[in-house]
Amino acid sequence: MVTGRCLCGGVRYEISEPFEAAGYCHCTRCQRRTGSAASASGRIVPGSLRVVAGEELIRCWDPGDGGWPKCFCSTCGSALWSRHPEEPDRLSVRLGTVDGDPGVRPAWHQFVAYAAVWEPIPDDGLPRFPESRSA
Ligand SMILES: [Zn+2]
Ligand SMILES: [Zn+2]
Repeated sequence: MVTGRCLCGGVRYEISEPFEAAGYCHCTRCQRRTGSAASASGRIVPGSLRVVAGEELIRCWDPGDGGWPKCFCSTCGSALWSRHPEEPDRLSVRLGTVDGDPGVRPAWHQFVAYAAVWEPIPDDGLPRFPESRSA
C-alpha cells in the first residue's frame, strides 16, 4: 500500500496496487504547473487510488484541448495527479506527493523538445521522446 498527501496535509490518499509505470515529463504545461523543469508521475492501475481525506479540497483544471485535467489541492496548491478525460479512474499521480518509496522509478523522459533551457536533461540513460511517449 502506497500512501501520499499534499503539502498542507488536507488531501490524503492511498493506492492499493503497485504503479504500472512512471516517467518524467518536460512539457511546458508541467513546467508551469510545478514551477520546475520537469514532473515525475506514475500511472496507477485504474481505480486503485482512494482519497482518504480532503476530497472536497481537490480541484481539477481542464486544459480544454483533450489533455488530461490537472488536479491539485485548493488549499496549498500541491499538484496531485492528472486524470484521463474519459476514464476518471485512470490517474497519473505526481510522485513527489508519495510518502516514502513509491516502488516505481521513472523510466523515460517525454516532451524533451520543450525542456527548460536552464536545466540540462540528466544523462541517466533513459529513453527520450521529443513529444508524448505514446505519440
Ligand atoms: Zn493541501
Ligand atoms: Zn507534461
